[in-house]
Amino acid sequence: MHEMVVAENIIKIIEQKLAELDQQGKVKKINLKIGKLTCVEPEALRLSFEVISRETSLEKASLFIESIPITGGCKDCGKDFRLEEVDFICPFCGSFKVEIKTGRELLIESFEIE
Ligand SMILES: [Zn+2]
Repeated sequence: MHEMVVAENIIKIIEQKLAELDQQGKVKKINLKIGKLTCVEPEALRLSFEVISRETSLEKASLFIESIPITGGCKDCGKDFRLEEVDFICPFCGSFKVEIKTGRELLIESFEIE
């Protein structure tokens, strides 16, 4: 399950950060940005996180997930547009020179400690 790996990584990264900061507190909130192209299901991620974070300093943390839409930009006409799925055709000029601009994000934006 993809979300398990993502949850594991989030916990690893934040635990490392807490160690660097020499923080003993519990994490209460984690703000995430997740692009639609990552195929991460927010609900599945929450469940995985809940299971994996048990007995860590992240166990009480709630996840705030901001979903980032897929957007593309056309290299021919220069327009940017939103996509429902990966579709490499510009809706304005029909060009195939479309570059995906957002949607691949998988970021820990910030987190809060109690
Ligand atoms: Zn175009």
